[in-house]
Amino acid sequence: MKQLAKLTFAPDASREIGVVGLGKSGRAAAEALTLAGYKVYASDAAANPATEKAAAELRAMGVAVDVGSHDLDRIARSALLIVSPGVPPTAPPLVRAREAGVRQMSEITLGRGFLRATKVIAITGTNGKTTTTALVGHLLRAMGVDAVDAGNIGTPLSAVALREPQPSWLALELSSFQLHDTEMLSPAVGVVTNLSPDHLDRYAKVEDYYYDKALIFRDQTRESRWVLNGDQREVLELARMLPEPVVRAGKQVPDPYPPKSEWPLGDVRRFSLAHRDDAWYDRDAGQLVVLGEALIRRDELSLFGDHNVANALAASLAVMIADPAHRTPEARKKLADGLRSFHALKHRLEVAGEYGGVLWLNDSKATNVSSTLVAVEGMTRPTILLLGGRHKGEPYTSLAPAIRRNCRMVLAYGESAPIVEQDLKQLVPLERLGSDFGEVIARARELAQPGDAVLLSPACSSYDMFNNYEERGAEFKRLAAAGAR
Ligand code: ADP
Repeated sequence: MKQLAKLTFAPDASREIGVVGLGKSGRAAAEALTLAGYKVYASDAAANPATEKAAAELRAMGVAVDVGSHDLDRIARSALLIVSPGVPPTAPPLVRAREAGVRQMSEITLGRGFLRATKVIAITGTNGKTTTTALVGHLLRAMGVDAVDAGNIGTPLSAVALREPQPSWLALELSSFQLHDTEMLSPAVGVVTNLSPDHLDRYAKVEDYYYDKALIFRDQTRESRWVLNGDQREVLELARMLPEPVVRAGKQVPDPYPPKSEWPLGDVRRFSLAHRDDAWYDRDAGQLVVLGEALIRRDELSLFGDHNVANALAASLAVMIADPAHRTPEARKKLADGLRSFHALKHRLEVAGEYGGVLWLNDSKATNVSSTLVAVEGMTRPTILLLGGRHKGEPYTSLAPAIRRNCRMVLAYGESAPIVEQDLKQLVPLERLGSDFGEVIARARELAQPGDAVLLSPACSSYDMFNNYEERGAEFKRLAAAGAR
């Protein structure tokens, strides 16, 4: 059986480690801990076929498991508690652990602890995280490097740690919620794609959301490397939101500590769509230019929209500054080939089909106003825009100019329809519908003329009508195709 080395921060294997949550990451965490020789107690409040199955598999490995309840006294005695993403701080096991002084840790910090020799390119930001992460992983692999995509993109770090041999690089996507709980990340390169208000349903203020994003800089040292959006002052100055003590928790702390005006510490590289920079879009020449030389032509990239040029620039720059071997002339050729062979991910401005001359575009992953804005701005056909779902707190008014330019009609639907209507009805053509997605699609079909596009780019989460954005996108594709017959 595979063995993992002990964690440097949990040297005493005689005491039990608790794992809360038996989803993908909790399961992987319990397995990795067991293979490292720790005693593990895992529990999940939900008793359902998925947690029962995970429990059976873990019990077969010798893990103590409870499904349907947590043994709070046992958790209070553990040496460490690993918390799955999505378990709120108010959940009883977390409250009890806090009261008992048990250290709590995210699955990402744990997984990183098992992957000490792996170098990490960490990616955060409001939009473009998954695309940029997938690009970074793809470019590394295109150069022949052993790299795995992990984190928010889908694979828990602990699961990566179980792979033999462990990969030499990770492309790691981090959401703000994950960064909130993650320590000891020490990325070789940290990337911030962009910032705009989001998740106002879960954060009291936008500053709290940005603060969590700033935590990517918490281990900054003089040796750090960063790739930042050169077109956004908020991104360039993000590190300065951190109080010094958090930063001081990093290693190799210089004395005296550099003033905030010099943060983030280390080598800061920027990408830009607007001006000449470390990586930039030379629009006149139609080229993506990275570190002083053209890398590929824009028309060789199959991705739609300027925002994806920004994602490609960020990813290329991150991979190139990560290691000198990634910037040789041969490496540049492989990188360019990697960019050419990369295709759009599902639910991100994905072509659902063209039926009767109408192009149906699935951008179900656009769950905030800024991501919908880039989609609408990029439309080159008259568009019927499907906007709605569960409201997340941002006003929709900033969409009005782009909608006026590129859309024939907005169909406001779902829980947020009244708010969307109130924000936009004086400004753009808009119809308010209910929460029957079939009706929304049927109305879009009626309105669309040959040469038009129907764009699902909802600027809202899907939870009012679907389990997740993937289901919403799949239903959109199904209904679009079904109506064509
Ligand atoms: P994330 O993982 O940050 O949600 P994705 O790569 O999944 O980002 O893209 C989600 C949506 O955000 C896409 O459908 C697209 O509309 C939009 N988007 C992608 N990249 C960018 C970017 N660089 N700037 C603004 N919007 C973007």
